[in-house]
Amino acid sequence: MNKGKIYVVGLGPGSYEHMSHRAKKAIEDSQVIVGYKTYIDLIKDLLHEKEVIDSGMRKEVERCNITLDEALKGKNVSIISSGDAGIYGMAGIMLEVVNEKDEDIEVEVVPGITASNAAASTLGAPIMHDSAVISLSDLLTDWELIKKRIECASMGDFVISLYNPKSKGRIHQIEEAREIMLKYKSPDTPVGIVRNAKREEEEVFITDLEHMLSYPIDMLTVVIIGNQKTYVKNGKMITPRGYVL
Ligand code: SAH
Repeated sequence: MNKGKIYVVGLGPGSYEHMSHRAKKAIEDSQVIVGYKTYIDLIKDLLHEKEVIDSGMRKEVERCNITLDEALKGKNVSIISSGDAGIYGMAGIMLEVVNEKDEDIEVEVVPGITASNAAASTLGAPIMHDSAVISLSDLLTDWELIKKRIECASMGDFVISLYNPKSKGRIHQIEEAREIMLKYKSPDTPVGIVRNAKREEEEVFITDLEHMLSYPIDMLTVVIIGNQKTYVKNGKMITPRGYVL
């Protein structure tokens, strides 16, 4: 029996306009679409006559196993992530599952616009210079290691994008992260908070390190903290690269 192909597709932040042509093509070329229901909803207009297998959150490995089984039956399967599939998405898990089962099957990882890039464009140009991306989720990573990374990125004056900043059950991480950043960054360092970037419900707040906790931050939010040179003017957050104007 012929084997199918696996596409691991980054859908971008949420609107069709920000999805790549390759992502659309991969979905068109697939008979089966596997994903978490919120992401399936983002592409529902592309799903006519496709078999859709949705599953709940935190069932990532199960989703990859289903994807592999369907592809081994000879179908092309797209397993989808929001943003970029290789940034806290499904790409790594899918490749690990294929390796673990020692299967010889084609896997194409299709890149997408990740949340920090989407949010940065809404804010202006806050990540024009060296930056670090850090997830505050300690479900799979020790909090001590996350804190160390925040510390090192702050010490190095990186612009920092925080993913998974706060959930109902995870409140203190963003507070501790701010405390660590304040050891190296000034309280008036600009902070951009973007919720639902590039979706209809997009919300944007520009504040600073001192006041950032007074704004709504949740799991649909990415938080971008500037470096020493970042400033805000006319509602845009800008990190200069150093050009002489
Ligand atoms: N693979 C995704 C990230 C998944 S981790 C990507 O590349 O974007 C989930 C976290 O991403 C969320 O908690 C949030 O911090 C961020 N995120 C994803 N989409 C977002 C959006 N449209 N707006 C703001 N933040 C988003």
